[in-house]
Amino acid sequence: MIKTIGVVTPGGDAPGMNTALRAVVRTAIFHGLRVMAVERGYAGLIGGDIHPMDLKSVSGIVNRGGTILHTVRCPEFKKRSFRKIAARQIKKHGIDALVVIGGNGSLGGAYELQKEFGTNSMVVPASIDNDIPYTSSTIGFDTAVNTALDAIDKIRDTAASHERIFIIEVMGRDNGFIALEVGLGAGAEIILVPEVKCDFQKVAKRLREGIDRGKRSSIIVVAEGVCRGHDLGEYIMKKLKVDVRVTVLGHIQRGGSPSAESRALACKLGSAAVELLLKGEKNKLLGLLDGEIVTTDYAKVIRTKKTIDKSVLELAEKLSI
Ligand code: ADP
Repeated sequence: MIKTIGVVTPGGDAPGMNTALRAVVRTAIFHGLRVMAVERGYAGLIGGDIHPMDLKSVSGIVNRGGTILHTVRCPEFKKRSFRKIAARQIKKHGIDALVVIGGNGSLGGAYELQKEFGTNSMVVPASIDNDIPYTSSTIGFDTAVNTALDAIDKIRDTAASHERIFIIEVMGRDNGFIALEVGLGAGAEIILVPEVKCDFQKVAKRLREGIDRGKRSSIIVVAEGVCRGHDLGEYIMKKLKVDVRVTVLGHIQRGGSPSAESRALACKLGSAAVELLLKGEKNKLLGLLDGEIVTTDYAKVIRTKKTIDKSVLELAEKLSI
């Protein structure tokens, strides 16, 4: 029987994590459960940085970016000896199950804890990268995309006034989810993602064709995992003898108030994590697929890599001609 739920945000912060935390705490208290919050992710779990939450402790955070529980990298958690200490802390604080709000790394930690020490948990997918399988979107992704789009719209205004090429580097070290969505929505002429081999020569050729057709300005969206925007900019400038401006959006993509979609996802999945634990479900990733809340075993999630829809690249190309 579950009497006490622990909640932790171990991964990279994402807008909507607080909204999810509020949903977990309020749903748990609604059902008469005790809630213990873990500060600083898995580091706080090891260090016993754990305290009780009440209804008021999540007041006024529904719209706040980041995580009020804080998060730090904790490479030690990859070692069994440290996870053993964490498991002891979980027991000591009377936590019957954990709700982990985070990404693939956080899920990996939860899976190890379950396998080795029988700690039950549910993972609520929160990551600006949208790289978690078995959910169409992750908490924070839509916000990050909207933030980037907002910035690019402003850049587009100035791009249209000058004859220039603008390169916007967005987040995405290993995948192009953000770049793809942002590039499509921003009407970028070229989108470069890590999943597709990048050829600077080809990029320059496409830009040249655009200029020859009378295009006055072009926007390139490049995921940080492809190349440095500045390197591409220098190449194009030398090759085409045109003015190129590079903007690296960086951490602004992580911040800000969660969008409507990120908030709705956080409320639904955060609350469902608690409801499902009470129904006896455990050790699953929550997700939203075709509007339905679904759950998937950790092992299956870890074996699966979420892939981008490459047809979107062709669509963006067709629409930006
Ligand atoms: P995210 O959850 O956003 O993917 P990270 O990859 O940084 O973020 O992972 C969050 C934390 O999860 C790490 O700091 C580490 O403590 C823990 N972690 C990551 N991978 C593993 C793993 N394979 N086994 C155990 N713990 C892990």
